[in-house]
Amino acid sequence: MNVPLVLTQFLDRAVSLYGDKKAVYCDTRAFTYRELQERVNQLSHGLKALGITKGERVAYLAPNTVEMLEGFYGVFQLGAIMVPLNIRLKPEDYLFILNHSESKVLFVDQDIYHLIEPIKQRLETVEHIIVQYKDDKTNETDYDKWLASFPKTSFDREDLDENDVCSLLYTSGTTGNPKGVMLTHRNNYLHALHTMHHLRVTDQDVYLHVLPMFHVNGWGSPFYYTANGATHICLKKATPEAIFNAIQEYKVTVLHMAPTVLNSLLQYYEKNVPEIDHDVRVVIAGSAPPPAFVTRVEKELGWEFIQVYGMTESTPLSLISTIRSELTHLSPGEKARLKAKAGYPMIGCDVRVVNEHGEEVAHNGKEIGEVVTRSHGVMLGYWKNPEETMKTIRDGWLHTGDMGTVDENGYIDIVDRKKDIIISGGENISSIEVEGVLYEHPSVLEAAVIAAPHEKWGETPHAFVVLREGHQVSEADIIAFSREKLAHFKAVTGVTFVNELPKTASGKIQKVHLRNEYWSSHGKEGRFV
Ligand code: ATP
Ligand code: MG
Repeated sequence: MNVPLVLTQFLDRAVSLYGDKKAVYCDTRAFTYRELQERVNQLSHGLKALGITKGERVAYLAPNTVEMLEGFYGVFQLGAIMVPLNIRLKPEDYLFILNHSESKVLFVDQDIYHLIEPIKQRLETVEHIIVQYKDDKTNETDYDKWLASFPKTSFDREDLDENDVCSLLYTSGTTGNPKGVMLTHRNNYLHALHTMHHLRVTDQDVYLHVLPMFHVNGWGSPFYYTANGATHICLKKATPEAIFNAIQEYKVTVLHMAPTVLNSLLQYYEKNVPEIDHDVRVVIAGSAPPPAFVTRVEKELGWEFIQVYGMTESTPLSLISTIRSELTHLSPGEKARLKAKAGYPMIGCDVRVVNEHGEEVAHNGKEIGEVVTRSHGVMLGYWKNPEETMKTIRDGWLHTGDMGTVDENGYIDIVDRKKDIIISGGENISSIEVEGVLYEHPSVLEAAVIAAPHEKWGETPHAFVVLREGHQVSEADIIAFSREKLAHFKAVTGVTFVNELPKTASGKIQKVHLRNEYWSSHGKEGRFV
């Protein structure tokens, strides 16, 4: 008989093989796998007492804490659905998501409780709000008292089917309103197996949660690191200082993060940590890092860099850069160039790049098309949004809205989001490619390139640049630098210097905000307004 692929198996395995091993450190607290399972049982008993049944939604508003980690397994034992909320949204966004998902219970970290206060009275389905997290400085929270009142003994689990929905994950909202992505146990289970293979996860790994668990990139980690009996390190606030301290204190071996966060680590490292004793074997990042940046991470931090590509709708990962440092004879420059491409489809993923007629583009690294994928990770659909689901999954293929190329070896490069591509005089310009060049400039700390309106060409690349501290460069310098390194039609024609760039909670630059502001402040109408 087939064993259903359900996520509770992962913690069961860890408890039976690694019961006395430390499962998680969270600031001043630590729990073994057995203790974690006991907390999970208490949580499931507690949720049952609150009347939660299979298929009902339980929402979490929390940073990376042990409470969040145990939440996944506690909710899954009931067959209920986890709705993790991004901690950087506005109260009105929470109102929308909590009502839209029809969540019944909301766990909220005490430090961000104020975000819920203004909307509390307007929540239509939430019956219980329970405040979580305890550290040295505070008294016991409601959650601790509540949890302690339930038995640690095993919980009589609901029958779970692998095709049951286990989570409603709202997308990052980089391009608009977040959408509720329905993922099943099977989606997450197989995705975890594939990921642990590609990342070579073992029980020797110590994983530092930098990406938020509420975001889909950070979301797989509670599963594949647990299944292997690795150790989780939760940091409530992942500042560069806290990250470097944790790396040394816990002998962290693996981290996942957005390139923007990695960039801030590099800056901090240059200024503050002349020598760091570390065991980091690899750092994993998505969202198109430029080659110059990959080289710095490997050379200066001494961490191997792996790029991944994916989206919430595919659980998330589909592509992985397979250029491993120890496996190739390429020059460091060539290696960095290839690592900065998204890579090959992961096991279990069929990824293609197709033109507007749905035909595969030529494998020449030049022809651009939309990236489409079929895999075990593709979502069931968007929650209560069948029209959007039908637009996104067509003939079994998930249409990503991202544009890419494929080279002779089948290696896929993500050129840009469809919405971010700059169309200048009929030529497609990848904002990512232009940003990559700007990052080579010694004074540029961060860069985002958008399409700006242009009388003659329709659109032209315009850069928003954050300079390194103490550096001074003129707009003309940046324009000249980009003209030196790029075909002239791709070079930036204007620069706005800013102190910071708008970002999502996972550290992605929200070009949509820059673009909207730019186009409206220039009184133009176009495809972006
Ligand atoms: P929303 O869908 O709400 O606008 P979002 O698309 O940013 O937000 P996510 O699902 O978190 O939400 O992000 C997936 C997107 O991130 C991909 O579609 C792609 O545009 C971008 N991305 C992820 N990995 C990479 C990568 N390696 N290279 C380039 N882009 C990437
Ligand atoms: Mg998206």
